[in-house]
Amino acid sequence: MSSARSKCSDRVVGAILASWRYDISGISPEMRRDYENHFAECARCSARQKFHRSLDVSLAVLTSLSALFFLFALAVLKHIRPLEHVAFKVLGLDIYDMYHMLVSAGIAGLCFSLIAMALVLMATPAPSYLSGIAAERARLIEQRVAAIRSLRSL
Ligand SMILES: [Zn+2]
Repeated sequence: MSSARSKCSDRVVGAILASWRYDISGISPEMRRDYENHFAECARCSARQKFHRSLDVSLAVLTSLSALFFLFALAVLKHIRPLEHVAFKVLGLDIYDMYHMLVSAGIAGLCFSLIAMALVLMATPAPSYLSGIAAERARLIEQRVAAIRSLRSL
């Protein structure tokens, strides 16, 4: 992949693509053809496109993992809640305050991760990229099922 360091074959097209973060999913199919041709002939731009798409996907994965983490933390806190009354009697008011602080921190964290996730999904082509991968997988599975069926019918 040392070709990624080589120069762009068309600087003008390369600059336009860079300003779009190498995402051409939003433009019309007729216009897309030129850029697709450029990705095919320019190793530098196609390497960057791959890098940006994997970055988008990792951001989407990270933000959803963080939302899941806060959901889990809130679920754990909910299970601890019965203990709260015991701790309230034995240890006093501090535990009660701490519990509510943790719950609000968990809710704030969950809201923050959901907003971050929504921003990532809106600002990047991660959803279309991921659904593209899903469609490709579904197509492969269909082909395999068709192959198995034709084998059985023999
Ligand atoms: Zn290029």
